[in-house]
Amino acid sequence: MNVEWGEQCGLFGVYGHPEAANVTYLGLYALQHRGQESAGIVSSDSQALHSHRSMGLVSEIFTRDVLRSLPGQSAIGHVRYSTTGTSDLKNAQPFTVHYVGGGLAVAHNGNLTNAHILRTELEAHGSIFQSTMDTETIVHLIALSRERDLAGRVVRALKQVEGAYCLLFLSENGLIAVRDPHGFRPLVLGRQKNAYFVASETCAFDLIGAEFEREIEPGEMVLIDDGGLTSFFPFTPAKTSYCVFEFIYFARPDSFIFGRNVYGVRRELGVQLAREHPAEADIVIPTPDSGFSAAIGYGHEVHIPIELGLIRNHYVGRTFIEPKQSIRHFGVKIKLNPVKEVIKGKDVAVVDDSIVRATTSRKIMKMIRKVGAERIHVRISSPPITHPCFFGIDTPMKSELIASSHTIEEINRYITSDTLGYLSVEGLRQCVGDDDGNFCYACFTGGYPIKFPSPVEESHTHPSEER
Ligand code: AMP
Repeated sequence: MNVEWGEQCGLFGVYGHPEAANVTYLGLYALQHRGQESAGIVSSDSQALHSHRSMGLVSEIFTRDVLRSLPGQSAIGHVRYSTTGTSDLKNAQPFTVHYVGGGLAVAHNGNLTNAHILRTELEAHGSIFQSTMDTETIVHLIALSRERDLAGRVVRALKQVEGAYCLLFLSENGLIAVRDPHGFRPLVLGRQKNAYFVASETCAFDLIGAEFEREIEPGEMVLIDDGGLTSFFPFTPAKTSYCVFEFIYFARPDSFIFGRNVYGVRRELGVQLAREHPAEADIVIPTPDSGFSAAIGYGHEVHIPIELGLIRNHYVGRTFIEPKQSIRHFGVKIKLNPVKEVIKGKDVAVVDDSIVRATTSRKIMKMIRKVGAERIHVRISSPPITHPCFFGIDTPMKSELIASSHTIEEINRYITSDTLGYLSVEGLRQCVGDDDGNFCYACFTGGYPIKFPSPVEESHTHPSEER
């Protein structure tokens, strides 16, 4: 049984709000982009925990009746994207258990790099696991800890794990939020009257009208209960390694994370890309939606008008019936359609955030060519992705990353563009304002900030077909 490596997730938590489950629902709704496979909410009414988890989208899972079955003034919620083949309700979060100290729910965004070793040890000592999630390892470590209170148990457990984690723990009478000492994933704190909120991104606060207070610091643990909020730094400090891919692709443009607004950074990536790889084109076309922000920066810098040459259907659910051989490239076509009247006879610069396997780009270029584009210049607002992520972004294994084995010219030929330009790592570093080396660029450089205990190149896929 494989322990999972890829975990793209969103977290939301609230303490001290009369409609805890309802606001958690809204918070998760705003964080849906961080995971569309399953979602869950666990609430506490001080006496017991109440849980509902299911496969699917937040709006499909949480009906009025379900939300009514989640009483109390505190709650945590989770949205999850996982790899194909492991789509399973038992892996949906928050993960809930009863241990000697009472009920406990856990929600995790990230990826533990030594979970498989810890799990093998725990199983050898008799622990029985219910899921394939690395998160469950933490729960077993907490249950086995001899510390008296939950906070002590959490600290003792987390001192044994390595990797990327933002974690929310909910007990009957308290909420704990923790960010790993490297700070790989974002985690933010909000307030509204007497209520406290924690979320992966600030866009969740905007929707519910909470004030963004501050980011939870790398290595910080925040305990919220009826006594208010207490902050600790119980772990050995580590080199800060914010995930630069959150800025490039993963986070929502209206969020504020790692000290910056995401849209502002993405726009700058586009400006820098234009400086490094200007294109002689009649129009700039963003690839919806991931290329929008960078395309605005790019077009502005090269003084070329930005046109909507590709339109995205936002109402495509996760399940649709795909015709067999009759309609090729259906996967991309169902989501994106070129505007012939915009593209025909033009030299175009197509801007996107990243190329992973290059299947999407290849299909898009064919579509654009078919409606009469003359020359196609592809511009990517990140460097070539050459290495998989083991810290919470779901990327395929190395052999499936086109840039791990192909030159830029070969990729250009494969996607059938006329020219291809990627942003440099140095340009990226400048745009995110990383003077002190506080970001992780491992997917572009292979320079992983944590040493792995053993080879961790598990195969997992990502939905390039599903954008
Ligand atoms: P492809 O090159 O065909 O694998 O698809 C690349 C596109 O997928 C990018 O333009 C992004 O918009 C999107 N993408 C990049 N990274 C991820 C990821 N980890 N999960 C899902 N989609 C991604």
